[in-house]
Amino acid sequence: MTGSNFLIESDKGKLLVDCGIEQGVDFAAAEVYGPFPYEAEDIDALVVTHAHLDHVGRIPKLVKDGFRGKIYMTPPTKDLAGLILRDSAGILGEEASRLGRMPLYEEQDVDTAFTLTETLDYHIEKEIAPGLSVYLRNTGHILGSASVRITDEEGTAVALTGDIGNSPSPLLPDWEPVPDANALVMESVYGDRLHDDKKTRVERLRDILSKAIAKNSTILIPAFSLERTQLMLYELSNFFSAGELPKIPVFLDSPLAIHVTEIYEKWGQTYFKPETEDEMKREGSIFEFPFLKKTLSRQQSAEIEKTPSPKIIIAGAGMSHGGRIGRWEARYLPDPTTTLFVVGYQAPGTPGRRIAEGASSVRIAGSEVRIRATIEKLEGWSAHADRAGLLRFAEASLAGSRTTTIFTAIGEPSAERFLAQRIHDYLGARAVVPDLGQTWEITKDSVSRAR
Ligand SMILES: [Zn+2]
Repeated sequence: MTGSNFLIESDKGKLLVDCGIEQGVDFAAAEVYGPFPYEAEDIDALVVTHAHLDHVGRIPKLVKDGFRGKIYMTPPTKDLAGLILRDSAGILGEEASRLGRMPLYEEQDVDTAFTLTETLDYHIEKEIAPGLSVYLRNTGHILGSASVRITDEEGTAVALTGDIGNSPSPLLPDWEPVPDANALVMESVYGDRLHDDKKTRVERLRDILSKAIAKNSTILIPAFSLERTQLMLYELSNFFSAGELPKIPVFLDSPLAIHVTEIYEKWGQTYFKPETEDEMKREGSIFEFPFLKKTLSRQQSAEIEKTPSPKIIIAGAGMSHGGRIGRWEARYLPDPTTTLFVVGYQAPGTPGRRIAEGASSVRIAGSEVRIRATIEKLEGWSAHADRAGLLRFAEASLAGSRTTTIFTAIGEPSAERFLAQRIHDYLGARAVVPDLGQTWEITKDSVSRAR
């Protein structure tokens, strides 16, 4: 899957929406290191939908290549993107020295990019390029995530959804539809799949935790640092305070996840859904509990081993493809009393995928590790709307009677086609699966292929 990157042009101005990096593949891929299909210095402005790497990962390269416009994003996205891009610069640096090549960018390039960044909140119309104004709405995907509507001087509007959330979320407000664009570009990552029910997912988490605690397990949770870790902490905190689980030590063993959680604490009081904001005001933190230990330094992390089980260790990376979880997998997977949770999608080729598929051993940091632990799969924790949610989003947006065409994008081709077909069949709307590199002309009266 390629990173999200869209160019919107009017007679006078040019702006980009997102500038992401391809994920789940070797960083050396041409899509990552190769040139942009436009001149970076010709772009007037960049709008960022949210802080995931596949939406922000190539911003420092864009700046290195000569982009000097302003970069707009919501205040939480600005904080989160700073963390994510600095983390990415570190990973790209290690990757580059292993491959003996120049890194795509370094931390100082991230700093330069942030000198160009301005925050733009939801629901404010702002002209950011000659003749082009933008308007952001919440998409309920991760903290700060936004859709972007772009309007020209004649009032013709095109909107891009960025990623659409798996609403309702316990933390974020539900996504807002986009009822006022002539053409709408929709994400379709889960365009052909359904998620498990959310009530089921919380009950299942509690049940397998309770089982694992009863057998004195060390419980390993490889988790994505952004949103999923905070959702897990929130549910754990609820279980413990409701007395639904015995109180056992929980280690958050990921510097990135610790810092992301601080940003969730900082902005949660104004960007979460109203009932969760109230909860924060009442209880202080909704992610903290007394026996949660955040192990920032390597020294603190190493000490986790001294704590007897049962205990829970949450660490990145989410598909066991790096980060600190590898150390704990090497230490605890050969132990039959261990329980490891596989949370959500595991890409082919990752250690997480092998573990999820029931392999008897897995290669971690160059050594083969025997798996005698119990492996429990958890479904339904995705931050993306499933095919039913995406269709509801399309329906709610089409209710504005202004959208003539919906493009399905940022998914696997089969998911994009499936969603487009359903939008056509169930909602009677024109739905198009665009190809990478295609140009479309959008006017008040028509949406058509250019050239
Ligand atoms: Zn995303």
